[in-house]
Amino acid sequence: MNYISYRRAFIRYLTGGSLAAISGGAAADVEPAGGGYVNPRKVLLYESTRKEFREAIEGGTLKAVIIPTGSTEQHNEHLAMINDTASVTLVAQKAALLLYPKVMVATPVSVGISPHWMDRKGTLSLKKETFLAVVFDICESLQTHGVKNILVLNGHGGNVAPLRQSAPEFARKLGIRIETNSYWDAYTPEIVKKYMTSGRAPGHAAEFETSFAMAAFPERIHWEGVDYEKIKPLLRIKDPKSAVQEEEFAREAKLATTAKGEAMIDIAVKWTAGRLRQICEG
Ligand SMILES: [Zn+2]
Repeated sequence: MNYISYRRAFIRYLTGGSLAAISGGAAADVEPAGGGYVNPRKVLLYESTRKEFREAIEGGTLKAVIIPTGSTEQHNEHLAMINDTASVTLVAQKAALLLYPKVMVATPVSVGISPHWMDRKGTLSLKKETFLAVVFDICESLQTHGVKNILVLNGHGGNVAPLRQSAPEFARKLGIRIETNSYWDAYTPEIVKKYMTSGRAPGHAAEFETSFAMAAFPERIHWEGVDYEKIKPLLRIKDPKSAVQEEEFAREAKLATTAKGEAMIDIAVKWTAGRLRQICEG
């Protein structure tokens, strides 16, 4: 490869590898919807053209939009910061593919409410008001274009309570249906017990999230050079309880397997598709 073609390939890799690939594995997935092949791009609003979105909404085929909300925050020593955003976007995309062409996925809100992790390096956090304002403005944009049903699908613990509190108010203000769930609402205590050796899900960068990443985007797991015992005294975590829990989570992460991740993803996707069916019909 000469220098110019290398440079072109590199730029394509960078742009294609950023937002488009946030959900990782789903980009290469082929999902049967109504028995046929669907290009996974087709359910992503942000990868669609104006023409495609307009035809879907004006033609009446598009019934609902998912807004994935995640975080950019420390995930212990071995998982990428984008983990929650990537996970929830993947669940959203796969659920939308099951219901194609009724559902699309909006651009994920990739920074969440994470003040509790700010003493760990790398975490980005929005104030609650900022986060909710961003989510509201996305809902309002969709409403302006004629979307009548929105599921704010969350993938980060710090966003849960503010979203639950605000969704009914957003719906009232905009005069459309807006509901919110975290994708792990799919997991009953029985499911967690069956699949998680630690008995915990979602947890934080522990068995569940590491299993999810192994199944969906193993390129976001980096065990190389991780030595938790060695770095522990250097972390300067303020809350001693939180430091102990983090250590437990780091140990539990070693219980992760690809098979557990695949099973848990499958459950979350089917559950989310079921929620969307209810929302579209209700
Ligand atoms: Zn997480």
